[in-house]
Amino acid sequence: KAKEQGRNNCLLYSEKWEDGALERLTLQHELRQALLRGDFVLHYQPQYRLSSGALVGLEALIRWRHPERGLLPPGLFIPLAEESGLIVQLGDWVMQEACRQTQAWQQADLPTVPISVNLSMGQFQRQNLIERVEEILNKTGLDPAYLELEITESMTMDVVHATAYLQRLKAIGVAIIIDDFGTGYSSFNYLKNLPISKLKIDRSFVRDLSQDPNDAAIVAAIIAMAHNLNLEVIAEGVETSAQLDFLSLHRCDEIQGFLYNPPLPAERIPELLETGRPS
Ligand code: C2E
Ligand code: MG
Ligand code: MG
Ligand code: MG
Repeated sequence: KAKEQGRNNCLLYSEKWEDGALERLTLQHELRQALLRGDFVLHYQPQYRLSSGALVGLEALIRWRHPERGLLPPGLFIPLAEESGLIVQLGDWVMQEACRQTQAWQQADLPTVPISVNLSMGQFQRQNLIERVEEILNKTGLDPAYLELEITESMTMDVVHATAYLQRLKAIGVAIIIDDFGTGYSSFNYLKNLPISKLKIDRSFVRDLSQDPNDAAIVAAIIAMAHNLNLEVIAEGVETSAQLDFLSLHRCDEIQGFLYNPPLPAERIPELLETGRPS
């Protein structure tokens, strides 16, 4: 059931729309308008501790409520937002909204769990990202301990002084997570010097865990090495109990996936925070 919900969250779209310069221009224009009109919305995907099944976090994932095309997934517009530079404003909105919503749940006396926000390269490269994060935390009143930023391996490698940069974010009290881990080129030797707290194993390795011995070996190795570096590990894209069993056997710390919950609209979150368990 959860799986169906996840897929139905994003309506199908015409392939044709993706191609062509005119369509791209139209889309860029529409993106700008959508920002002004407030047509974006965040869905939240729960993260659970594997050993206890307790809800331990939420990942904010953006969707576009398009007036004609329905609810569009980020894969359809984030790349263009990056290309056109709009990602900076869009990313600002995401962080602001995620912090505002988390603070609102806390104000409503619901148990609070950290919110993970995905950063894009364009945001990470921006000189005043740290100031923006501080401003947003001040403005929304959210405790920095409840904000986690997800970056990718390539972002840490392509940005000059990434380590110093991340150090400053950490100093504010914000946690840094490496998303889609295993798909980039960073070595563990490089990672050990980064002020990060968690690795998120990419969905592509989790997907074929039960059929592909190589993927199983990679996942087991990532978990073991992360633990040796005192990092926590979360697996994304967990869909089956066979995957869950494997991750549990190898002591993965946290999981996120359709097996428990797809990304959910904000209205669905308070009940989950209340029970602290998958619905
Ligand atoms: P991600 O950060 O790796 O997010 C996880 C993606 O996996 C989400 O797709 C989520 O819906 C999907 N997913 C979760 N569990 C399962 C599962 O069990 N099976 C399968 N097949 N998929 C699962 P979504 O929401 O379409 O987001 C795709 C990507 O778009 C994200 O990947 C992230 O890189 C990017 N993105 C999403 N929101 C934002 C945002 O606010 N800012 C930026 N810069 N990027 C975003
Ligand atoms: Mg992510
Ligand atoms: Mg990911
Ligand atoms: Mg991903």
